[in-house]
Amino acid sequence: MTNRGGLGRGPADVPVSELEVPQGETPAARCEICDVPFPTTEQLALHQGLAHEAELSEHEKAQSIRAYEEEQESLGMFRLKALFALVLLYFGFLLIYAAMT
Ligand SMILES: [Zn+2]
Repeated sequence: MTNRGGLGRGPADVPVSELEVPQGETPAARCEICDVPFPTTEQLALHQGLAHEAELSEHEKAQSIRAYEEEQESLGMFRLKALFALVLLYFGFLLIYAAMT
């Protein structure tokens, strides 16, 4: 298998066995360039932006950028929630420690 270019982990790096769709399920989208199945159209847009950026139309590039921005937004929200949980855990243990001593 050859690397088709692009950034990050593309389908060329993934063994074919990991790309098989389980029986009874149909992928929501399939890359037209490398025929890799994806469970959501957002993941397809992210894949195309990373692996096939040079081959995309302006509309597909815009979709890819929008999917990337949404991904960054949800990642930022996850980081905030994780930080909040860590702060709660820290002060929870601190209060328990203070009550025990
Ligand atoms: Zn592809």
